[in-house]
This record gives sequence, structure tokens and C-alpha cells, in this order.
Amino acid sequence: MAAKAVLTAPREDPWKVALEQFSVAADLLALKRGVREFLMQPKRELTVNFPVKMEDGSVRVFTGYRIHHSTVLGPTKGGIRYHPDVSLNEVRALAMLMTWKCAVVGLPYGGAKGGVVCNPKELSHEELERLTRRYATEIGILIGPESDIPAPDVGTTPQVMAWIMDTYSMHHGYSVPAVVTGKPIAIGGSAGRIEATGRGVTIVAREAARHLGMSLAGARVVVQGFGNVGSIAAQLLHEQGCRIVGVSDSSGGVYAEKGIDPRDLLRHKEQTGSVVGYRGSDAVTNDDLLELPCEILVPSALEGQITKDNASRIQARMIVEGANGPVTPEADEILRERKVFIVPDILANAGGVIVSYFEWVQDLQSFFWSEEEINERLERIMVRSFRDVLAASQEKKVDMRTGALVRAVGRVADALMTRGIYP
Ligand code: NAD
Repeated sequence: MAAKAVLTAPREDPWKVALEQFSVAADLLALKRGVREFLMQPKRELTVNFPVKMEDGSVRVFTGYRIHHSTVLGPTKGGIRYHPDVSLNEVRALAMLMTWKCAVVGLPYGGAKGGVVCNPKELSHEELERLTRRYATEIGILIGPESDIPAPDVGTTPQVMAWIMDTYSMHHGYSVPAVVTGKPIAIGGSAGRIEATGRGVTIVAREAARHLGMSLAGARVVVQGFGNVGSIAAQLLHEQGCRIVGVSDSSGGVYAEKGIDPRDLLRHKEQTGSVVGYRGSDAVTNDDLLELPCEILVPSALEGQITKDNASRIQARMIVEGANGPVTPEADEILRERKVFIVPDILANAGGVIVSYFEWVQDLQSFFWSEEEINERLERIMVRSFRDVLAASQEKKVDMRTGALVRAVGRVADALMTRGIYP
């Protein structure tokens, strides 16, 4: 069955976008040709086609991917996406972004990403479990606590991670909690992991506001996507005194000039399955939502949402990229000229992978930290990374995205040169 089509604008090829962004940083760093060519290619790519028994007795074949972009800085890390639009080029781009994301915040990881072309909303709980266990088995040749550690992304949950952990553990004959992160706490997950990405988004929004001399109190915020990242960012920004005026999910958006209580909206979503129809709000389309008057725009759904077609109508002073790749390069240029301050994805949404790293470290040492310790460590890394990227962008006289990429690509290139080329 076809997925519900929501956004009508054609999306740019995410891999092309990732390569364009990489090229800008590579030019600024004057990378040697060999280093540049090596970092432009994923290290390895796996495509799997696998059967799943459906509730009606039929068998459906699904396609999935797992891609390692780089192993230069350590084992690979990156989420698994379940979505009808998953494609090889999307997974490639997201794997490369993960390499830069880990590097920009100083984690000892390379980048990876995985995905299955499916609509999890159309699968029963049992179908989802069978699909997950089979996919985990198919990519079992790549994943492992020392080699590649998946995590949740769009359409996957802590429960999905639990099934992957269990499947991998069954194949090994003992429990291997460190094979995935974003697991439920009961089986080795970390305190604070669920909130981590949204919390990180909030920390950099606060730092960016401070840099711009803007107060968060009363600042109007629009959040696209009300899933893990968007709903937490909305709640924490609301707690910091922001006014959440617009929110959307895959079914549409809501707008209320006087502000929306994100916790109440979450209850509405839990009861009805969507933010649509929230009392006291006006309906808006996802396209209109992005153009609402606000100070802070937090795209937290999918990539390619802000394009050359709508960038000139964005009214936000600051965009904090909760999602990966929500702004296309052409839109980036328009927004730069319009002096919209963008906190780029690899920095803004790195909170998730930072606490995933904490989870992996805790699993490996079988010793767990309190939520307070996790949040303190997250805060320290996010603030340090924001300041580091701001300094890089000021040094090179470039925007924050280029500053972040220069820092990240520079670190991976340095490590590559230090390790040398085998043999
Ligand atoms: P999620 O599945 O929990 O939520 C996604 C939200 O986006 C849902 O509310 C969904 O309804 C909405 N959505 C889906 N398609 C949409 C569309 N076409 N238009 C508008 N809204 C749409 O996913 P998530 O974990 O919150 O991830 C969101 C984004 O953040 C993704 O780009 C993901 O790669 C990125 N990200 C997530 C994490 C994490 O820890 N979860 C970490 C870093 C980056």
C-alpha cells in the first residue's frame, strides 16, 4: 500500500547534497586528492532483500540497507530508518553525515546508517518484530559492539532496538547489550537517551540565542515533526520560556499565535494519532508551517524540507536543524544572504549520538550513570562543540554549517593521514 503523501515538493537527491557540502569543506581545507576521493565514498554498502511472513499468511519481500561511510575514527555508529522513501542514496548521505556528526562533537566513531523500505504504521506489532529480527540477521555480518552500533531513527523505536539486541544476542549465545543504543533502560539502555537529541537541540538553540543577543523568553518557536526529536525539543524550549506557536507531523500542522502547551499536544497526539485537530489551534499544511512568523524554526522531520522554493519566505531568525539535512544547499545560500542563523544538523542533533555513545560506554563497562550525570556530560559536550564550531566559522569567515564541516572533515582527514594508508 502506498504511504500517505504529505509533502508535494520534489526532494533533491540527498547524496548529491551531501557531496556538495563535503566539497565545500574539502576545498577550504585544501585536502589532497587521494584523501578527498577516499572520504567521498562509503567504505562499504550492503543491500538486503528478505522475506517476512505477514498476518494474512502471505510473504512479502522487503529491501533494507546498511552502509558504513568511514571507520577512520573508530567503529561505525548510525541509526536505522523505517520509512517508505528510504533509498540507497538517502542512506549513503545519512551515513556520511554521521561521520561528520561524530567527528564534530569529538566521538571516537565513524559514520553508518541503515534503513528498510517499509511503512511501519501499516505493519502489525508481530510483522514489525519479524521484519526487524530478519533485517538484524541479514545485516548481522556488519553490526557488532566493536564494529558497528545501530540506533533508532525515523520509524524505529527502543522496542525495535530491543529486538535487534535480542536477535544478535541469540546468534552469539550470550547477551550483547552494546550492539545497539537507544534500547529500553531495562536491557542496558541509558538514562536520558530518549530525550537526548531534543535536549541537545535546546542547548544549542540557547547558545545560538545568546550569541545573537536574543532572549528565549517569549521567543516564538515552530517545530516541524512531532516525534522523538520534535516533541522533546518543543517541551524543553517551552520550559525555557519559548512560545511554541506551530507544530506539525506527517498528517499536517497546527498553529496558535498565543502558544501551544507541548505536553498537552502530546496527550492529544497519543489519543488521536496526530497533532491535527488540537483544540484552540488553526490547521496549517506542512509547507505553510515552515513559513510561519517565528524567531526559531526547528525542522525535526525529514530532509529536503527548506528548498530554493520556500527559503525566501522563511521568517525565522534562527533555524536549529533537529532533522538531518532539512535545508538544501540552494536554500542554504538564500538563507545565508538573508542572515538567518543556522545551527547545522551535524551539531544541532548530535545529542542523540552523544548519549548513544554514553550508553555504549556504560554497556561495555557494565556500570551505569545517573540521568543527572548524563545530562551534565551532554551539556558540556554540546556547549563545547557549539563554541568550537562558532570559532571555526569566525576563523574561516563562513557560516556555521561550513564551520562544522571544516572541523569534522579536518579531524577525520588528520586521523586518516596519521593512521596512513594500508598496506
Ligand atoms: P520520529 O519517527 O520519532 O518522528 C518523526 C516525526 O516527523 C513524526 O512526528 C512524523 O509524523 C513527522 N513526519 C514524517 N514525515 C513527515 C513529513 N513528510 N512532513 C512533516 N512531518 C513528517 O523520528 P525522530 O527520531 O524524531 O527523527 C526526526 C529527524 O531527526 C530525522 O531527520 C532523524 O534523522 C533526525 N534525528 C533523530 C535522532 C534521534 O535520536 N531520534 C538523532 C539525530 C537526528
